[in-house]
Amino acid sequence: MNKILITHGTVLTLGKDNRVLKDGAVLICGDKIAAIDATDTLLAAHPDAERIDARGRVVMPGFICAHHHFYSTLCCGLSSKPGANFVEVLENLWWKLDRALSLEDCVVSAQIPILRAIRSGTTTIFDHHASPNAIGGSLHAIADVVRESGIRASLCYEITDRNGLDGADAGIAESRAFLEEAKADKSGRLHALVGLHAAMTIGQSTLDKCVELIREFDSGFHVHVAEGLADQEDSQAKYGMRVVERLAKAGALGPKTMAIHCIHVDDREIDLLRETNTTVVHNPQSNMNNAVGAARIIDMIQKGIRVGLGTDGMTSDMREEVRNGLWLRHHEHKDPRVGFVELATMLLMNNAAIASDAFGQTIGSLEVGAAADVIISDHIPFTPIEPGNVLGHIVFGVTAAPIDTTIAAGKVLMQNKELKTMDAEKICAEAEKLAPATWERFAAL
Ligand SMILES: [Zn+2]
Repeated sequence: MNKILITHGTVLTLGKDNRVLKDGAVLICGDKIAAIDATDTLLAAHPDAERIDARGRVVMPGFICAHHHFYSTLCCGLSSKPGANFVEVLENLWWKLDRALSLEDCVVSAQIPILRAIRSGTTTIFDHHASPNAIGGSLHAIADVVRESGIRASLCYEITDRNGLDGADAGIAESRAFLEEAKADKSGRLHALVGLHAAMTIGQSTLDKCVELIREFDSGFHVHVAEGLADQEDSQAKYGMRVVERLAKAGALGPKTMAIHCIHVDDREIDLLRETNTTVVHNPQSNMNNAVGAARIIDMIQKGIRVGLGTDGMTSDMREEVRNGLWLRHHEHKDPRVGFVELATMLLMNNAAIASDAFGQTIGSLEVGAAADVIISDHIPFTPIEPGNVLGHIVFGVTAAPIDTTIAAGKVLMQNKELKTMDAEKICAEAEKLAPATWERFAAL
């Protein structure tokens, strides 16, 4: 069993203990944390361990991204007709890009955001995948990238009727295949959910089939909810009820379901999300980019909803997301006092709880027995640090410093800023070879 001792760090445990250890050490045995103590103590007790010297820098749990879209990767530099509203953005860009993807594209589209995740200290990702012309085997191919990279990921395929009912059935079949694959995987690094695009592209028969699927596998949905007003308008016109009401009535909500965005929801819908213990995931950069509005996350948190933080494919870097989320909150409320504790809690506590529930192990805190997902940030605290101001050091210090070392499930994925499991140059060269044909297919749609 591998044994790694991280020494001489400023250890921020987060989690229920929320300790700060100066000149602290973290012992990793296998894929779990075995001890946290003073460096001298653990060095004396474990002289045989492989050592990583943190030299005063911050040692903390890896970041978690609660909503991502690997498939969006090849849009970098792609020219598309600008959308004047959210539906046009979907039609002009995302619903054409996903149709243009081949299975090979899906692989490089996962590799690049994953290597960027490792570089930015993100060790767990919840991804939402779509490739309507390469559905079968797409999650298996992405799971192979996850396995090789060493990170932890929850994957799902985006089921939708927008490519016809056959397309929806193919999405259901791919979801079923991956639910089986994730169930058989004993690494503790793969998890499956059932992905739904959004209520507005899912008819009742597909929704009912999907609800049967989550019941059969005791799973949940990963679904976009009321991201744009069009989702609400569609639901009211076709079903005479609001989106969250429709999902609740169908049996789609619950503690294993992740409702993404929830921007255009009313008080009754917020109550329904709370009553069903559904998790909400906020994606501030994407919401600002698409100009869809700002979710009422403060109201949701005050009502007791677990709100996590994701990037919606904008980035794999949670340090960037949390800061943008905070600025959005200040701007939206026109009050610089609003949102600091909430944004930090979403990133560091709520995402940890979401990942811990999904993967069935303690993730997102440094404690004995927890998953050994540990990062070293170049942030050397240059002002006093104590349990009471850890969040400030993370939001304003760790987020502004490079990540040096990333460890997931006890495996070193990057050390001294050098990737250990992925060849970035080779992957980028492969993507560069594939992208022109993908863009040609995109232009022809
Ligand atoms: Zn999304």
